[in-house]
Amino acid sequence: MQGDTIFGKIVRGEIPTDFVYQDDLCVCIKDINPQAPVHLLVIPRKPIARLVDASPEDQALLGHLMLKAGEIARSAGCGDAFRLVINNGEQAGQTVFHLHLHILGNKVYTESGL
Ligand code: C5P
Repeated sequence: MQGDTIFGKIVRGEIPTDFVYQDDLCVCIKDINPQAPVHLLVIPRKPIARLVDASPEDQALLGHLMLKAGEIARSAGCGDAFRLVINNGEQAGQTVFHLHLHILGNKVYTESGL
């Protein structure tokens, strides 16, 4: 779970990737295996493995990721109808151990939204 990941290489520019958005703190890419018509990933440049590995010093960064995810979702044409998902831990489906937010949009969901 420790160490570098594919997202580490992407945020450092070691793997050529088209960024939907980037700033000093995060990048946004299209998911390679989309689960919705819009499926983007917001990835902090800082390599935090899982959400639970974030510390109080990451509070502003986590807020930044949320705010940017909302802006990016709207820029991507999701309007007000999108979901943000963070899988925390292998048993919750996390496969890349570098924190990331999934933006899922333009898909019709069931009543529960799940
Ligand atoms: O939450 P989880 O860790 O499972 O999400 C990882 C996501 O990263 C997957 O949706 C996968 O399709 C995506 N991915 C990607 N590009 C890669 C490797 C994984 O978009 N090179």
